[in-house]
Amino acid sequence: MPGRWECREDSGSIKAPRTIVRFDLRGSDEAPHAMVTRLTRFDQMRLTVLGTDASSSSRVFGPDDVKFATNDWLMRAALPELDAPIEAVIVEVDSARHLGMITDARLTADPADSAASIRLELLIAGLCGMLCLPLMFNFAFFRVLRERFVLLQAAAVMCMLVHTFTASGVINRFFDLTMLQISMISVYSWAGGIVGAGLFVADLIEPEKLDPLQKRLLRLLALWVFAFSTFYLFADDVFRPWSAPVYFGSFLPVMALFGWVMTTARMRGSRAIMFQIAAWTPLMVTGSIRIISSFGLFGPPMEMQLEQHISIALEIIITSLGVADRFMAIKRQRDNAVAQTKVLEEIAERDPLTGLYNRHGIEERFQELHGLGFDTMAVIDLDHFKLVNDNHGHAVGDEVLRMTALALMPDDNTLALRMGGEEFLLLLRGEDAVDRAERRRKAITSRIAREMPGLGHMVTASMGLVEQPLKQRVRSEFTALYSHCDRLLYEAKRAGRNRTMSERMQSFDSRAMAEPEAA
Ligand code: GH3
Ligand code: MG
Ligand code: MG
Repeated sequence: MPGRWECREDSGSIKAPRTIVRFDLRGSDEAPHAMVTRLTRFDQMRLTVLGTDASSSSRVFGPDDVKFATNDWLMRAALPELDAPIEAVIVEVDSARHLGMITDARLTADPADSAASIRLELLIAGLCGMLCLPLMFNFAFFRVLRERFVLLQAAAVMCMLVHTFTASGVINRFFDLTMLQISMISVYSWAGGIVGAGLFVADLIEPEKLDPLQKRLLRLLALWVFAFSTFYLFADDVFRPWSAPVYFGSFLPVMALFGWVMTTARMRGSRAIMFQIAAWTPLMVTGSIRIISSFGLFGPPMEMQLEQHISIALEIIITSLGVADRFMAIKRQRDNAVAQTKVLEEIAERDPLTGLYNRHGIEERFQELHGLGFDTMAVIDLDHFKLVNDNHGHAVGDEVLRMTALALMPDDNTLALRMGGEEFLLLLRGEDAVDRAERRRKAITSRIAREMPGLGHMVTASMGLVEQPLKQRVRSEFTALYSHCDRLLYEAKRAGRNRTMSERMQSFDSRAMAEPEAA
């Protein structure tokens, strides 16, 4: 009866240098071959088998005398031989580093490589193999974009793969490792996976979606995680019984940081974080259960190895989808920028007075610019400009036009053209296009007041603006849109100048042109 051979000790402790477990086998008709328990570092272990006829036999094991399972984080020690039926098995462990070595101990009559164990082994090996695929994608992505987050993700994936390969025991099929080696590989590869994930996400998330402090903490995570991992592996003497709870506990602040990062980025509308939330949730759930149970709050420590492997696999797969998504977004942005440069190069001709593009070529190229997201058009005309010329002369008038061009501040998302005379055109894209246009209109007045104090009066501007959201994706003719702006500009002039009349097109077709809805 395997049930009778399980330790199931909830209140065990490894605080004393030696822990003793006794398995009572009276009345059992099957004979156990071995003791199996959580793979844990210890100094020495003695197994004693007591026979019903008062005979006994015992054997001492060092950490490297036990056999490591090839399908789980377990180790196995063969019981000493005894001729008589077994009455009890006594396990004495010196300096165990994890309570699980005591609470998970059980006797087994199973030979090590039963069919079930090989199936599990194959499953895990298959999982590891499958997870190599995202790695290859990462290198392909990197060749195209040269973005660092792709490499960081690759590093994190590699660490998690090594961890799964080790913690699952499959590594013992391939290599003959010592207890210390296998523990170090498992602990440090896990640390590497966490640190890599932190660095990766600090780089991946779109600009402005995280606080600088959060990024700094994500990047400093390495110090924290590697310090506690080293403590767990090497703490000795009085610290030994505490090494596991302290180590597992050190992940609580790490999870809090990841939680905080996810919340902030989500609230700021990051798209990339959605993938990370989906990727990390299973890991955080299994992780929390493991951490809390390692404190002994409920039952013996739960390893949840298989759940953990599956969570890691999900993490890798979902994160890779996130990387692919971000890759596409960045690639689209870059392609856009290249296309835009090309279009602008073709427009090329500049106005000699202001240095802005002139209207030459804009009509033919407008379709392409609209396709690149320039969905807002604004026509700006200076108010009573004739008076400037009349009162101060043509040269001062020219200077006012130059100041106006400077106030229009063209950038990647804001193209500025001089259409002729004192009339200017803005083409804008992006969420705050309308605000940006309005800020520029007002900047004309403030800039001229600042730079040309001798003028004696304020130079203002009126604006007619039409927004045609890109989502409508309809063909838009430059001339139609332009004359629509011009009409709104005329209304602004008639309403008293120094103001903006704008309209947001629901669908830009000839009917809407004929009956514009006032905004
Ligand atoms: P409104 O508020 O209605 O727009 O009145 P306005 O005086 O600004 O408009 P109007 O069209 O009556 O006058 C535009 C003036 O701009 C007439 C022209 O002499 C002057 N102008 C056109 N091109 C230039 C230029 O390159 N340099 C200078 N200094 N003046 C120019
Ligand atoms: Mg004017
Ligand atoms: Mg004019």
